[in-house]
Amino acid sequence: MINALRGMKDIAFEEADKFIYTIETATQIAKRYGYQYIETPLLEETKLFKRSVGESSDIVGKEMYQFIDKGQNDVCLRPEGTAGVVRAYVQAKLDRRPRKDKFYYYGAMFRYEKPQKGRLREFHQFGCESFGEASVYEDFNIILMIRDIFDALGIGYTLKINSLGCSECMPPYRQNLIAFLTPKEALLCEDCSRRIATNPIRVLDCKNNQCQTLLHDAPKLTQNLCPTCQSDFQTLQKLLDSSSIAYEVDTHLVRGLDYYNKSAFEFVSSQIGSQSAIAGGGRYDRLVEFLDGKSVPAVGFALGIERILDLVTLPTSKREGIYLGSMLTQEGIMETLFALASRKRQQTKVEIEYEPKSLKSHLKGADKINARYCAVIGEDEWSQGEIWIKDLETKEEYRAKIEEW
Ligand SMILES: [Zn+2]
Ligand SMILES: [Zn+2]
Repeated sequence: MINALRGMKDIAFEEADKFIYTIETATQIAKRYGYQYIETPLLEETKLFKRSVGESSDIVGKEMYQFIDKGQNDVCLRPEGTAGVVRAYVQAKLDRRPRKDKFYYYGAMFRYEKPQKGRLREFHQFGCESFGEASVYEDFNIILMIRDIFDALGIGYTLKINSLGCSECMPPYRQNLIAFLTPKEALLCEDCSRRIATNPIRVLDCKNNQCQTLLHDAPKLTQNLCPTCQSDFQTLQKLLDSSSIAYEVDTHLVRGLDYYNKSAFEFVSSQIGSQSAIAGGGRYDRLVEFLDGKSVPAVGFALGIERILDLVTLPTSKREGIYLGSMLTQEGIMETLFALASRKRQQTKVEIEYEPKSLKSHLKGADKINARYCAVIGEDEWSQGEIWIKDLETKEEYRAKIEEW
């Protein structure tokens, strides 16, 4: 027997119903906010992620499904969705004309991590990227959209926000933080002592308890923002207050990826273990430029589909469609059933039972697939050109001309 690879999982039955319902719900809401679908390849040049996600990140450093293909190209399966969308945006030269572009996407992402609960090697994300809008109102608009998605799916959450500053206020803060961390290097965990040189901001969200204790008196970026970043961050909080979305400012929220600036946010759920992130995003005004485009402001988010599947409440399933069968073996009966099914499928779901059976067995079969109607041709009906129908919701039974039903 051949099994799925470690860290990879089939999604079927009720989970699949929840999976597709989540994507359909998120898609519908993204469209209402003016987003268009974009599909980008699963496989990209490795350097795309090295340049966007960053060489110092865990994703690029340890977790990529990277290999040399038969044409000697260094390629990898996408570990996240934003880089590919930005690459597509630049490749189509959309950065060269002043217009706003908003894209949504969903699909599989790959990270070679140690598989554990809530962490798969192949997982799925739904995400949105908005290009060309620098205003903090767009950051707020995206948070509203995620709120709408989780509300529609019946999922509770807590919102955490932070500001990561800009190219004016981040560099001096980074120096302050390095100066604060360097004397404590020996006391920090192995990852953090390495990060002082490579990516000191990532030290802030280390999950190690001792690191967190040492960070207690660390300088906070929210207290060192430039006037523009400060005013944007206050505007975002005012908008959130007015919309009655509960939130907390988390100065240690830095996101895992190097390209974020200004607003960063995370939706967390306490229903799936300790404060797990179910969606995250923020502003990344420099990424288009990093990938050889013009300077275009951008903001986006992604939500982890597998992480929320257990939390999704499916709408109660109603009886739907038609179960079609016969009790006969007569010449022409199957042709009649197929023709009727084709006509009815213009409006609804139809399943045909090929075996001739008793009425009782047909009714059982219709119930099993949760059909609304059980339609059966028996001997008497066949001789009259008719079909017997039972509405399994109202229990009403009647006969109709096959041609006219
Ligand atoms: Zn700033
Ligand atoms: Zn640490």
